Amino acid sequence: MSDPGRQGRFGEYGGGYVPESLVAACREVEEAFREAWVDPGFRGSLARLLAVHIGRPTPLTPVRRLSAELGINLLLKREDLAHTGSHKINNVTGQALLASRMGKTRLIAETGAGQHGVATATVAALLGLKATVFMGERDIERQALNVFRMRMLGAEVIPVGTGSRTLKDATSQAMRHWVGATEDSYYCVGSVIGPHPYPWMVRTFQRVIGDEARGQCASELSTGVPDYVVACVGGGSNAAGTFAGFVDTSARLVGVEAEGGAGAALGRAGVLHGARSLFLQDGHGQIVEAHSVAAGLDYPGVGPEHAYLRDLGRARYVTVTDDEAISALVRLARTEGIVPAIESAHAVAWVIRAAGAGELPSGATVLLTLSGRGDKDVSTLKEQL
Ligand SMILES: *Cc1c(COP(=O)(O)O)cnc(C)c1O
Repeated sequence: MSDPGRQGRFGEYGGGYVPESLVAACREVEEAFREAWVDPGFRGSLARLLAVHIGRPTPLTPVRRLSAELGINLLLKREDLAHTGSHKINNVTGQALLASRMGKTRLIAETGAGQHGVATATVAALLGLKATVFMGERDIERQALNVFRMRMLGAEVIPVGTGSRTLKDATSQAMRHWVGATEDSYYCVGSVIGPHPYPWMVRTFQRVIGDEARGQCASELSTGVPDYVVACVGGGSNAAGTFAGFVDTSARLVGVEAEGGAGAALGRAGVLHGARSLFLQDGHGQIVEAHSVAAGLDYPGVGPEHAYLRDLGRARYVTVTDDEAISALVRLARTEGIVPAIESAHAVAWVIRAAGAGELPSGATVLLTLSGRGDKDVSTLKEQL
């Protein structure tokens, strides 16, 4: 998981499949990022913001009661405790700082569960930037709390009524909008998707999760590294950031997708949103709509680096149903006093299933990135429980 070069290639995946009008804009972002990342001034400002505003490092929590029930040693990397309630803010803080450095005055973003939109609105307010967030109408209905939070923070939320009215359509709309606004606006992508340099840059900003967890595991575990590293995968940013910290170790990497949005587990190679990757497609190569109770996993594809890790066999991608995720959420809440986001509960559900099936050997150490907290999901949960 290194620098994918100027072409942004991860094996046969990645690249920059964008209209002529966005080629220069993507190049400008790449140049700015390459410069900033080796500038100690930029790195210092980012580190300071992450510490004093976002609350990093987030803790590594051993969950004793659930571990005892499952016969394993489960540790949670607590991104739910980061400011605004998910890992999204790590990436947004990096990109917003970059946008300021580039002299841009407005952030454009897409959002699914609303966590990326809230993070964007938050950091925009902090740095004195404007924010315009595109969100599918269906997600606006099921994530009302986050829509309110974004507006509260001064962001403009633009409803997207096309297609499945979820994340895929919001992403298309945001990219289209950026075409006419590259002069003063920066497109702040929320996951490891989109054209080069986004998948690489977003993974680099999220790598803080894996790097912190690696150090925390070194002091917490006698073996130093966990046997398994598990994270949920929508586009794949919390997983990519986590995996990056462990890819050079013996840990087995497992990405958990929603059954109805399993780009890495069930998809085929294709091009969408500016990159070649794995997407759910029908027999004619048309993208199939994703369906998941978790708005943040309701995406038909996966970032190109995950496609590459899958092909290499370095990471494995598995799926979990809506029902399994909801019952895992309740179980974690009632054994540990932690209400995870429904997205994160997918990772918990796989661990519960795999431990029960003997697929995780008894006593195995498992690091699981808990990508966010469940406050945003109360209305969905009220319908489900
Ligand atoms: C957005 C989101 C996800 C999915 O996004 P990734 O890019 O796959 O990490 C997962 N969990 C939460 C809480 C989210 O907000």
